[in-house]
Amino acid sequence: MKKKPYLLIICVIIGLFYVSCPSNVDEPIDLANLRHFTVSIPTAEEEAEQIIISLRWVQNFVRQGIIHPPSSYRFPNTPLFYEAMNKIQAGGTLTIAEENQIREHFINDVFNAQNYQRYFNILARTIQRTDRRIDSLRRFESAWNFHIPSKYHVFITLWGIGSYVDPEAGMITMFSAHITSPNLLYIIDHEIIHIGLYEPIIRRFNIPHWTNERITDLFQIKHFGPIGRSLQQEPEYPIDIIFEQPDVLDYLPQRVEEFLRNHR
Ligand SMILES: [Zn+2]
Repeated sequence: MKKKPYLLIICVIIGLFYVSCPSNVDEPIDLANLRHFTVSIPTAEEEAEQIIISLRWVQNFVRQGIIHPPSSYRFPNTPLFYEAMNKIQAGGTLTIAEENQIREHFINDVFNAQNYQRYFNILARTIQRTDRRIDSLRRFESAWNFHIPSKYHVFITLWGIGSYVDPEAGMITMFSAHITSPNLLYIIDHEIIHIGLYEPIIRRFNIPHWTNERITDLFQIKHFGPIGRSLQQEPEYPIDIIFEQPDVLDYLPQRVEEFLRNHR
């Protein structure tokens, strides 16, 4: 089977299009002191690629019958994108030529780097706080290889299906609508946990989509506290039960493995 290039994280569908306006978003931010993060505005080419990946994910969702509210996707409001989404929602697959046409249209007619600056400023401010939270995860790294990359590379996107991560590259793609959410700090923590759990648990035990989300949410609540929203959709397995053990995070891979042995 072909390996998927990205682990997709559908995060916080509810309350997606919050807009908040911190008063100091236009002040320049100094990110030189960050120990664990880089934060970047994408180039037109990188953003076009991100959009193609997102469209392919929507194709996968339609195929797998994974349902998200249509308002949780955001693509440019142009006839070409409208056509592409119609084809995908009807179960179709974009051809290579159609994907190339979308790339070219996006780069020439849609992309504008200035539209990213205010998101960059908000994100950079919050990431300064996240940066100080990373060391609290080291004990899981030592105990069972919770993955903490040498740097997390954070990109901003204005388009697509949500925020998601590439665990191997330590890449986090942050959706603009998440960046303006009052829960931004929790959303970044969520992505950090997805990256950490992917290799030692999610890929190792072949955990399905909603159970992955559930384990991530429950890990986050237990380690960092409230997450600012309710748990995501019901998982494929009743995994919540293992989180009733007070020390579950210290032995998480073993606990998940034992659970699966009894439920698969
Ligand atoms: Zn998630």
